Amino acid sequence: MKVYLNGKFVDQKDAKISVFDHGLLYGDGAFEGIRSYNNLVFKLEEHIDRLYETMHTLLIECSLTKKQMIKAIVETLKQNKIKDGYIRVVVTRGVGDLGLDPQKCKGTSSVIIIADKITLYPKELYEKGLAIITVPTVRNHPEALNPELKSLNYLNNILAKIEANIAGFNEAIMLDATGVVAECTGDNIFIVKKGLLLTPSQGRLRGITREVVLDLARKSKMKTFEGAITRHEIYNADECFLTGTAAELIPVVNVDGRQIGNGKPGSVTKKMLKAFKEVTRKEGVKY
Ligand SMILES: *Cc1c(COP(=O)(O)O)cnc(C)c1O
Repeated sequence: MKVYLNGKFVDQKDAKISVFDHGLLYGDGAFEGIRSYNNLVFKLEEHIDRLYETMHTLLIECSLTKKQMIKAIVETLKQNKIKDGYIRVVVTRGVGDLGLDPQKCKGTSSVIIIADKITLYPKELYEKGLAIITVPTVRNHPEALNPELKSLNYLNNILAKIEANIAGFNEAIMLDATGVVAECTGDNIFIVKKGLLLTPSQGRLRGITREVVLDLARKSKMKTFEGAITRHEIYNADECFLTGTAAELIPVVNVDGRQIGNGKPGSVTKKMLKAFKEVTRKEGVKY
C-alpha cells in the first residue's frame, strides 16, 4: 500500500510522522472519511468543504489548497488501484514542542491520505439490524468541542463506544448536553414514524450521508423533520437506522431493550438503502 504523506507517496511501513506532531500529542487536527464506489469518489467536494471548515475553526492552515487536496486524494486511489474503497484524510497542526501551544507549531501542517477498505459491521447485521443502547457519556457540549468538527480528538466518542462494548453492544446512542438524542459514536441516527423521516438537528455532526438520505427522502416526496428527538420517540418509532460514510446505512431493530417496530428492518429503511446504493454507484468524481 502507498500512503500519501506530506506530498510524497511512501510505502505503508515508511508512513511515519514525528512524535512531536501535535496530532499525536494533543489530537490537534482534522480528518475525513470518504468512500469511492465503482471508480467514483462519492461527495468528494462536500467532504473537502467540511474538512476545510473544521480546519478554519481550529485555525489550522493546510499546506494544500482544496484543489491540490482533491488531486492528492484521487492520486492516492489511483496509486493503490482501488475501485471501491475508503479514504482517510488526516491533517494535523504539525510538529511543535511538548507544550500544547499551537503557536509553537512553526512548520507546516502534516497531511496524510490512506486509501484502503473498511467494513464497519458484520454483513448479517445489515440484513437483520443492530441492537444498540444509550450510554452515560453525553456528546460534547457545542461550546466545549463542537460535534460539527471532525477533529482528531475523538475520546468523547471512544468513551461512548467503550461503554457500549462493555455492555455487549456494537453501537451507542449519545445524548447531547441537554438530554435529547444527538447521534451514535460515528453515525447519525434516523427514525421513521407514520411515514415521516426524523433526525436530530443539534449536538451532532452534520453527516454527509445524513444529507444524502434527507435529499433522497425529499425527492421521493417523503416528509422530513430535523429537530429535537427524545429516546421515547425512538422507542416508539416504526423504524430506525444509522448513516455514515463508513457504516453506510444500517437498520436498528432494538434500542435500550425496546423493540423498534416489528423488530425487523422496515420498508422505508430498505427503500432508502436501495436508493443510496443506486446514487453511490452513479454519482461522484471519476478517476
Ligand atoms: C463521520 C461521522 C458521522 C457520519 O458522517 P458522514 O459524513 O456521513 O460520514 C457521524 N457522526 C460522527 C461523530 C462522525 O464522526
